[in-house]
Amino acid sequence: MTKKVRVRFAPSPTGPLHIGGVRTALFNYLFAKKHNGTFILRIEDTDQNRYVEGAEQYIIDALNWCGMPTDESPVDTGKYGPYRQSERKHLYKQYANKLIASGNAYYAFDTAETLDFHRKDHEAKGKTFIYNWHNRLKLSNSLSLSAEETQVKLDAGEDYVIRFKSPQDETLHLKDIIRGDIKIDTNILDDKVLFKSDGMPTYHLANIVDDHLMEISHVIRGEEWLPSLALHYQLYKAFGWETPEFAHLPLILKPTGKGKLSKRDGDKLGFPVFPLQWTDPKTNDVSRGYKEDGYFPEAMVNFLAFLGWNPGTEQEIFNLEELIAAFDLNKVNKSGARFDPDKIKWFNHHYMQEQSNDVLAELFKPIVDENLNVIASKTKQSVSNDEITTSQAPRNDVDANYISMVIGLIKERATFVSNFWDLSHFFFTAPNSYDEKASKKAFKEDTKGILEEVVSIINTTEDFTVENLQTNIKGWITSKEIGFGKVMMPLRLALVGALQGPDVFDIIFMIGKAETVKRIEKVINLL
Ligand code: GLU
Repeated sequence: MTKKVRVRFAPSPTGPLHIGGVRTALFNYLFAKKHNGTFILRIEDTDQNRYVEGAEQYIIDALNWCGMPTDESPVDTGKYGPYRQSERKHLYKQYANKLIASGNAYYAFDTAETLDFHRKDHEAKGKTFIYNWHNRLKLSNSLSLSAEETQVKLDAGEDYVIRFKSPQDETLHLKDIIRGDIKIDTNILDDKVLFKSDGMPTYHLANIVDDHLMEISHVIRGEEWLPSLALHYQLYKAFGWETPEFAHLPLILKPTGKGKLSKRDGDKLGFPVFPLQWTDPKTNDVSRGYKEDGYFPEAMVNFLAFLGWNPGTEQEIFNLEELIAAFDLNKVNKSGARFDPDKIKWFNHHYMQEQSNDVLAELFKPIVDENLNVIASKTKQSVSNDEITTSQAPRNDVDANYISMVIGLIKERATFVSNFWDLSHFFFTAPNSYDEKASKKAFKEDTKGILEEVVSIINTTEDFTVENLQTNIKGWITSKEIGFGKVMMPLRLALVGALQGPDVFDIIFMIGKAETVKRIEKVINLL
């Protein structure tokens, strides 16, 4: 690639960034970084009616959370700024004027009522009203009016728009990296509005002018913009500018594979469609976010990378660096990519295993504290104080290191940090009930005697290590020919409250001699 790679992610701040937008940003980011290029954030906020407070900050926060910081943006700045179109407002009119001067655009004065009349009239006849070469001379514009008539209207301050004059009987040859060559007959194109009399450009004009001025080399965006490509090509030609390369990314489909994944699908289908939680500033409605739902950004990024792209090998796990190295726009598919919410869980489980236990412990500690507080206050309510046994009271010595060790024992079975408590509560607090079905299976007539023996082995195990405990208890079981289940099941039930959890010897070692003995004795007393 000889040209310096400069790509832009150009969202409109009309609300929280949809997951599809994050995928577009990611593909831009990967492409930029792969080619030592520049990743730019441009805020396309020319439509002030759709502007939503907080949306720009949300976009920046989402990119940062995913680990895709921008090189140039409204906040990073750079020599191509400003990066908000509302701050570039003064730039666009001169370009619209240039197109008028070169005969590529014209003033149109048709009122909203007239256009509406034509639209409805066509609809009634089963047709679609298109403003272009076939009817523009019958409408009110600077092509149908004389230069003097046009000037009179402009001088009188009549409302106008500036429209692109799409040519008749031409074939456009468009190129898209993902879709190959596309031929378009100009006769089907309408004369799109480029500029409005409120002094604002439309998306099309502002987007092309900015891509040119910002020296964008590759436009990577969603498939929904493919229908605009013909106009954009024509605009570059009309200005005499070099056309950037285009890549239109495939749609993201609903989990069923039918239809485009929409912003509303999240609520309907029960998974987030936004990277971060979003509170609507007008309604205060809260939409779920992947971050707050407990996903790691690495999982989100890895998952999104495979929505429309794959490396052509079996490898699925890619961190950001590996994605940058492997990414290739030529390997992006044309067909829609099905959004599978279970797949991102699978990635999350994987990245959970890769996180350090200390980092996870920081996330889990508040959950442990909260649960222990709830248990403590419940215990106080339901049992009078002098009845509280020590093993019913929560441990109060949970330091980060202990939590970290617990996580090491249970995280293999967790997808989210929020799963940790269910998998590990018995490391922090004694069970106050015993699973009924398991009790029937585990507690037999001879259990009491067996557990008494176990207590005495534990009490006499001086060097309290997992290995010693294992050797002593297993050795005893073997020498007495008791059968492992007869010992291990009631033991586990006494410690955990259910036939679940990691290795019993790990649990004994972690909760310590005194607590282990207390829990077993509690069961002995119940039997
Ligand atoms: N502002 C457009 C959007 O919201 C940008 C489309 C483009 O990248 O050209 O998606």
